[in-house]
Amino acid sequence: SSATLGELIRDDFPILRRRFGPHPLVYLDNAATTQKPQVVLDALVDYYAGVNSNIGRGFYTLSMAATDAYENARETVRRTLNAGRPEEVVFTSGTTGAVNLLADTFGRSRVGAGDEVVVTGMEHNSNMLPWRRLCETVGARMVVVPVEADGRVAPARFAAALGPRVRLAAVAHASNVLGTVNPVRTLIEEAHRHEIPVVVDGAQAVPHRPVDVRALDADFYCFSGHKVYGPMGIGVLYGKYALLSELSPYQVGGGTVKGVTLDTPVGYVPVPARLEAGTPHVAGAVGLAAALDYLAALGWQRVRGHDEHLVRAAVETFGAVPGVRVLGDPAADPNGIVSLVVDGIHPYDVGGHLNQHGVAVRSGVHCANVFVDTFGVVGTVRLSFGIYNTEDEIDVVRRALSTVAPGVWTKDHPTERFLAIDPAKGHS
Ligand code: PMP
Repeated sequence: SSATLGELIRDDFPILRRRFGPHPLVYLDNAATTQKPQVVLDALVDYYAGVNSNIGRGFYTLSMAATDAYENARETVRRTLNAGRPEEVVFTSGTTGAVNLLADTFGRSRVGAGDEVVVTGMEHNSNMLPWRRLCETVGARMVVVPVEADGRVAPARFAAALGPRVRLAAVAHASNVLGTVNPVRTLIEEAHRHEIPVVVDGAQAVPHRPVDVRALDADFYCFSGHKVYGPMGIGVLYGKYALLSELSPYQVGGGTVKGVTLDTPVGYVPVPARLEAGTPHVAGAVGLAAALDYLAALGWQRVRGHDEHLVRAAVETFGAVPGVRVLGDPAADPNGIVSLVVDGIHPYDVGGHLNQHGVAVRSGVHCANVFVDTFGVVGTVRLSFGIYNTEDEIDVVRRALSTVAPGVWTKDHPTERFLAIDPAKGHS
């Protein structure tokens, strides 16, 4: 039989050669961060070894080369998202950085006392707390759209929240807890009916599916480089040009101004430079572009097919293990994540046990405290797949789970809170 994508490309990722005692690393925490292929590591080293210099202001060869590398990376991101022009791509430190930028600029200019900001019940803290703080600061109200039992936001429920005082909406493209995917195209359409701009948190979507910001008609779209096989410390804020252009600088400083005297008003340069004060993470942008090129060369059809194969295999495998329950319905539209609960055993104990077998998973609430609270569990055990995972690794987890037992965390907590949800009751 032909090798799967995971088997074919594992050698591209040096860290996957690590072993822990007798156990090879089974890395299933890709929703937290992904491992880096050699081409990304090479891009970082080559940049620092051969091109490094500050961008924009130098009229010497190296500086111009660094500027070109940075702007070429911006073009690669533009192409990846199918944005209309490179000026619509702002480099940030990550998704968190992008949402904070928006809350402090767009939010502060558009949302006032008595207004409303709509978020959904499945948001990561990074796409919730910046909006909540904005609302607290300006005297607005944050409206939370509840999530359905299948782990998605229903368009009708979202539409019902779009009252006359709503100034913007922020929605996750895909859940980092359940791996479920929201119908963002439809949600955006609903919001646009009322001329409400929409911020999409694409942190968990960009690594798993082709994203076309123009087809979605997203006003803003954010993602993190490190979750898409690129470096940490670099991320992207896409915004429609007209909307980005109305933003005043988030941070002020070098690179944002046209000319400064002490007694005249400050004139700011156009976007994206206006929103990228100071020296940017040039190497990070270059590394991110290398990662996006690597993914593009694999092809979305193969990446999607592999993702679907692994998620469906995991749902089938763990659905057949007594005492283990899969949350939500991740196999309906696979997006690399399967969240489990093991009846009567705290997720931290499950995570610690799996670690004894070389398995890396995340346990807990995954920075989505409010969402996980609605399941009536203390947390979940999250398996999240990347392009290099294999079906054999799912079997390693299955075998390891057959010997999992209550440990210190379980003893410290009341048992009823580890019981899996009753799917009939849903999450809301
Ligand atoms: N949103 C979602 C859905 C996420 O999964 C994450 C990362 N777990 C973030 C936002 C925050 O991303 P970062 O930490 O890279 O800023």
